[in-house]
Amino acid sequence: MIWIFLGAPGAGKGTQAERLRGDFGFVQMSTGEMLREAMRAGTELGKTVQGYVTRGELVPDDLMAEILQQRLAQGNTGNGVILDGFPRTVRQAEMLEGILARHCWQLCGVVYLDVSEEIVLQRLGGRRNCPQCGANYHVVTMPPKVEGRCDRCGAELVVRPDDALEAIRKRLEVYRRQTEPLVNFYSQRGLLERIDAGGAVDEVYQAVKSVISRRWKRCLAGE
Ligand code: AMP
Repeated sequence: MIWIFLGAPGAGKGTQAERLRGDFGFVQMSTGEMLREAMRAGTELGKTVQGYVTRGELVPDDLMAEILQQRLAQGNTGNGVILDGFPRTVRQAEMLEGILARHCWQLCGVVYLDVSEEIVLQRLGGRRNCPQCGANYHVVTMPPKVEGRCDRCGAELVVRPDDALEAIRKRLEVYRRQTEPLVNFYSQRGLLERIDAGGAVDEVYQAVKSVISRRWKRCLAGE
């Protein structure tokens, strides 16, 4: 069973998906994190995507679909998979339909985390990331227990290069132009669940959890 988390950068996709992992046994697949991992490891893939990611541009669709397909085919999919950051274009969404059909995977729902641009700018401005395990923090709303250190692995937290102001602007513009059309795409297919994601993390999580519980039952019943 597959879930998609859709929303602007900073909408809270990663944060909410991470929580669902604990409560529902889902596996989170963050395409952004996969790319950052490849860049950290200095692999061929990492070198290929570095420029796009740092500039806040999208990596080409075919490459992203290939990466996702390979990851899904590896198995280890828990009680279901949350796609965090994929698809990001209508073409990727169409390719995803093909991948899911080929493997008989079912798309249970698309959780659309809706936030204003003002909130996105506030959130991304204070975001800190663990370069070792990928965990995200925020200096004001979600600080680590020890300042500047990751709670999970103790590594020193950094500001992602694509969280620099220029790159944030670019990512928002790319989101509006290329990713936002997916709201209609999935709404037309009866899969979209819109959630107001401007509130506190716990508040948003309650809304996400209730949508997932409801849809999960329907999905299990084969509806
Ligand atoms: P994220 O961590 O989801 O904000 O992704 C960080 C960056 O990785 C994006 O700004 C893109 O450059 C790249 N990226 C992640 N997922 C995709 C995708 N599905 N399609 C194209 N580029 C992506």
